[in-house]
Amino acid sequence: TPQTLDGWLTACAERFGDRPLVVADDVTWTYAEVDARASRLADGLAAVGVRPGDHVGLLMANEPEFVPLKFAIARAGGVAIPFNYLYREEELAYVLGQSRCRVLVTMTGFAGLDYPAMLDAVAPGWAERAGEAPVGAPLADLVRVVQLENAGPARPGALTVDGLEQLGADAPGSARIGVRGPDDVGDILYTSGTTGSPKGVQVTHDAVLRTAHGSALTRAFEDGRRILFSLPCYHMFGYVEGLLAATMVGGAVVLQTAFDPRAYLDGIERHRATDILCVPTMTVALLEQPDLAERDLSSLRAILSGAAPAPVWLWEKVRDALGVDEIVTGYGMTETGGAMTLTLPEDELLVSSTTVGRPKIAGAAGLPQGDGPLIEYRTADPVTGEHLAAGAEGELIARGPTTMVGFWDKPEETAKALRDGWVHSGDLGIVREDGYLEITGRSKELYKSGGELVMPKEIEELLSRHDAISQVYAIGVPDDRWGEAGCVCVVRHPGATIDADEVLALCREHLARFKVPKHVLFLDADDLPTTPTGKVQKFRLVRLAADRLA
Ligand code: ATP
Ligand code: MG
Repeated sequence: TPQTLDGWLTACAERFGDRPLVVADDVTWTYAEVDARASRLADGLAAVGVRPGDHVGLLMANEPEFVPLKFAIARAGGVAIPFNYLYREEELAYVLGQSRCRVLVTMTGFAGLDYPAMLDAVAPGWAERAGEAPVGAPLADLVRVVQLENAGPARPGALTVDGLEQLGADAPGSARIGVRGPDDVGDILYTSGTTGSPKGVQVTHDAVLRTAHGSALTRAFEDGRRILFSLPCYHMFGYVEGLLAATMVGGAVVLQTAFDPRAYLDGIERHRATDILCVPTMTVALLEQPDLAERDLSSLRAILSGAAPAPVWLWEKVRDALGVDEIVTGYGMTETGGAMTLTLPEDELLVSSTTVGRPKIAGAAGLPQGDGPLIEYRTADPVTGEHLAAGAEGELIARGPTTMVGFWDKPEETAKALRDGWVHSGDLGIVREDGYLEITGRSKELYKSGGELVMPKEIEELLSRHDAISQVYAIGVPDDRWGEAGCVCVVRHPGATIDADEVLALCREHLARFKVPKHVLFLDADDLPTTPTGKVQKFRLVRLAADRLA
């Protein structure tokens, strides 16, 4: 039955009361504890003026408090907007203003960022403000900031998360529980910004819970999994495939605030994690840990990898090196409310980097290709929008009860992305006869060299099979003669040697002439411009390459 997020937490607390839900290094909170805290925090939010439908920002890494706060916002009837906590001042000002956020819950600091100081710049006088927006403030909607004292004290006069909880304890029952329904928007999540400015995706309570449920079924979760991840909960991957999926089986999340391969391995050992979530760059880093073989990873059952293309060699190594049985790859986007396809645990090891699975909970045979109970997908002609038959490459489109309502306050982008109920992904792919989806690239990342359209993926796939190459990205850099010239950015495995001539020779041997890159650029993994979720941003890589080649 359709549920709201806070209704779901109540149901979970009744069923799984004493089991751990949130685990971090010094913290274990049960479902009952999280539920009780969420209620006090919801009352606190109501006491500071949060009304049903209000936008409440959450600028917080995977601190344990994130979880009760997230549910508290739903319980107070608010719409939660978890922001990227690595944003700098300008980016923060943009999303805070664009989202029309009324109340912001933030940490005091993270990774060298001083949030009180950043707020001084974007919302002067925030600490002393108690419920009324100062005239002429740049962020006219923001009336209240609440701070978690994680990295230092909050500003004198500022409300803390503990203070918010106390307010709620003093005024129990003030939150307007039950005024929001399953079909109301519960979250606005900003896209990663891999191709440009992030967009606020509105999704309903029902949509995220359904996606999480489908995920738990497809991943064949049995009772009580323990899912470790550092992927942020402001992103669908951590939030839906991690946090919400865990609640479907009374499982726990083991939260880490930043990705560090050593801490990941320590965390698996210490907390007996059964699952980890990774984007491919993280999996690469785990496999490169020198003491991997000495680690006790016996609790680990599954790795869920997704969010970006994986180099081909990865799957060949992961199973042995990490000792996991189940390697699940997922594909999805914020606009589809999380992963829309997953490979099934019993799928044969995939040696192609492009196959990303079938619709969630469509494991049973006999479903029409590309159609699951949660989502249907097809490909469409990128120009005319005409739907294509199975096997034909085109822009991937999807529709179903889990897709977004639209972008927040971006009617033009919404009209482009959402047509007759179909989300247009900007990704290119093929829906195979057997229902599997293959992703072949992003339409924005194709480039034209000498008038010929080049698919970066084809070059990347070829080169990433080479033993010396850890990561490879093909891009088009501006070129006077060719319009754009192909450039491959190569990261070598530690200690491996391969030079530009060898790279080019390999391309000449296997690719048509117009696809052979003009430039080869060797980079360190640390040089790659990525989003905070670890996705390589090709539009920034193009600038970096152009600078280095100049
Ligand atoms: P923006 O829309 O702001 O440019 P983004 O598209 O990266 O950023 P997300 O919604 O977080 O923001 O990511 C979804 C995209 O990630 C998909 O459209 C797809 O391009 C890519 N992606 C996700 N999973 C996979 C996968 N398994 N293989 C390849 N690409 C993937
Ligand atoms: Mg996108």
